[in-house]
Amino acid sequence: MIRLFLTLTLFLCTVFSLSAAEKPNIVVFLVDDMGVMDTSVPFLTDENDQPKRYPLNDYYRTPNMERLAKIGTRFNNFYAMSVCSPTRIAIMTGQNAARHRATNWINPWQNNKGPYGPPDWDWDGLNIGDVTLPGILHKNGYKTIHVGKAHFGPEEHEGAEPLNLGFDVNIAGRSVGAPGSYYGEKNYGNPNHKNKVPHLEKYHGTETFLTEALTIEAKKRLTETVEADKPFYLYMSHYAVHAPFNSDPRFADHYTDSGKPKNAQAFATLIEGMDKSLGDILDHLDELGVAENTLVFFLGDNGSDAPLGHQHAVACAAPLRGKKGAHYEGGMRVPLIAAWAKPNKDNPYQQKLPVAQNVIQSQQAAVMDLFPTILGLVDVDVPKSHTVDGHKLNRLLTGKPDPSRSEEFLMHYPHSPHRSDYFTVYRQGDWKVIYHYYPSEQSDGMTYQLYNLAEDPFESTNLAEEKPAKLRELMQGLVTAMNDHHAVYPVSKANPEQRLKPVVP
Ligand code: CA
Repeated sequence: MIRLFLTLTLFLCTVFSLSAAEKPNIVVFLVDDMGVMDTSVPFLTDENDQPKRYPLNDYYRTPNMERLAKIGTRFNNFYAMSVCSPTRIAIMTGQNAARHRATNWINPWQNNKGPYGPPDWDWDGLNIGDVTLPGILHKNGYKTIHVGKAHFGPEEHEGAEPLNLGFDVNIAGRSVGAPGSYYGEKNYGNPNHKNKVPHLEKYHGTETFLTEALTIEAKKRLTETVEADKPFYLYMSHYAVHAPFNSDPRFADHYTDSGKPKNAQAFATLIEGMDKSLGDILDHLDELGVAENTLVFFLGDNGSDAPLGHQHAVACAAPLRGKKGAHYEGGMRVPLIAAWAKPNKDNPYQQKLPVAQNVIQSQQAAVMDLFPTILGLVDVDVPKSHTVDGHKLNRLLTGKPDPSRSEEFLMHYPHSPHRSDYFTVYRQGDWKVIYHYYPSEQSDGMTYQLYNLAEDPFESTNLAEEKPAKLRELMQGLVTAMNDHHAVYPVSKANPEQRLKPVVP
């Protein structure tokens, strides 16, 4: 009897200690400035919904993304904001930038609202006490690990430090949006370089490329966390592939005969180095025995910044038009691949959130959707006072359409200067309208641009004049969405006391 009691106690203890660690792990693998075409994985599809390769898919080498795509679902209508901080804070909060109001990349040293930008935009970024994804996960027993680029708030403000925002560990994150250098030999930015990367002193003077140093550090933290029997949230946020386009010598040979300019070759080496990191992390999860319990989201934070061609041309994200910062699809369409790191139909977490393998999902989704999807998986409620704009991806991850989702996307950029200035994009179903608050050279003098993305995915024919009723309908949708998000507007040049609001024609 006593023996039975002891056995039972031992059994219960074992179950209890297992259940403490037995929550699913989450990896968000975020690549800076990576668009949907910067990969050998074809995301776009042909008229039969089959993957279609374009020349850029044959230029880049991303075998580990191919590996992840085979075991997961990839999205080809997945949206981010057009620049860094707005997307990063959307991932942290589940809110569209129009709502959280950090609508521009955050300049660490001065308020970069632009000459007519809204004075009440959120240059300050995130603050202590804000509801954040890692903050919620931390409170629910997760080890929350930040590795790489942060860019959540300006220098000497609370948001500059990820440890203030719910992360238990911060490696290499601060206010800056780009590294001083990718080279260990250059200490990732010399001591007086304003963009120097913190915390990596042990690699200074070595040949360790920044992407590699971050990967080694992430693996170390994963090992420690698994040994401590804790579930983890790893925010693996590479500085790659953001400028400066430092060529990664490990991969340079692969592109020397490409005929592409030197900086475009360097960009491709940054992509390939990032891809190696993805493979190393996946291997490590497997070695630690936690791959089955780990859900991976791979994504970019804004459209491509590949140094290939004009910012509004069909070039660097070809066949999509435009690039990072621009109002065209190339500015905001990013890759998303979601996958369990090791698929197993019998795993209870995978049963709770099944992810189809080797499937392309063409329904619209956006960066705000990660927040509710992750919290739903780990069974945590969002504080009631916190508005979430994202919607769970659960149904889409099974590879099927989700008729309950509204097919809408709002992207608000009330600033300058960038590759496009003072604009709002609103997509509803197949239609997309772009409103320019200050028509300029960047908008070819136009106030309105209207495209049917089903018929004209590459935005070649502006239908604003030809389809006035459709334009009016989309603009009404844009105005409603802006009101719903409590968005803030640029100021009027003529009267700085007034705001410029979108005009429905
Ligand atoms: Ca970026």
